Amino acid sequence: MMNGEDWRRLLTDVTGNVQSKVSKVIERGEVSKAVGVGASGDTTLVADKEAENELLGVLTRIKELRIVSEEAGNRGDIRAPFVAIVDPLDGSSNFEKRIPFYCTSVAVAKGDSLTGISWALIRNLTNGDVYWAEKGKGSSKNGSPLRASNVSALADSVVGVDLSRGLPEVAAKVNPLIASVKRQVHFGANALELCFLAEGKIDAFVDLRMKMRVTDFAAAYLIASEAGAVVTDEEGSPLDARLDLEARFPVVGAGNGALHRRILRVISS
Ligand SMILES: [Mg+2]
Repeated sequence: MMNGEDWRRLLTDVTGNVQSKVSKVIERGEVSKAVGVGASGDTTLVADKEAENELLGVLTRIKELRIVSEEAGNRGDIRAPFVAIVDPLDGSSNFEKRIPFYCTSVAVAKGDSLTGISWALIRNLTNGDVYWAEKGKGSSKNGSPLRASNVSALADSVVGVDLSRGLPEVAAKVNPLIASVKRQVHFGANALELCFLAEGKIDAFVDLRMKMRVTDFAAAYLIASEAGAVVTDEEGSPLDARLDLEARFPVVGAGNGALHRRILRVISS
């Protein structure tokens, strides 16, 4: 049975290999070369596929592990006690445009829902930063502990908002929030943006589109939560999505409870 330190080492190494693979794709000039359509329905780039092959090559060798991955879908024994949730390349559209904000995300859960996530690692593939969390033991970036923001006033807060391909009513709900904060941002890779929430670079993150999937979210959820962020659905209830590619859910995350309550109030009024 693998413990936290085993997972941290294994995922640090394999995502390091992913980083080199993805750099080589850039060197070969294959940044926008597509190879098909993934299990999630999005176009699969050469980089998505190479990153996934690297991860699956290692993860499929681990006994007792089922895998849910963005391009390949489900792998391994459905009765396995552990599940790895993998997004080989989050922020593919940034990658394709050579915008330096994309990452690889891996979470490992006991059981089959978000609440079972026990270990998580996200690597920023543009600079090698490694975000890690173990349930109950906090989160870190390159080994240094992370603490989410203590900014509690809306007027002082920087808030990540994903409205991509959202319906007009979603924008209408979020507009009062955008109007009340200091700055609204969106960087185009939600897993990495939630790591910014964990380290206090942004004070909150809101996505009400009902398009968030566990592959983009599972690892970041643990990293942000273990840094002290409060992350719920839009009613303020705990998130408990099933670990499959079908689940879609809204996310309201804030660095602290006071800011979280204020955001819930603004988006529900
Ligand atoms: Mg992806």
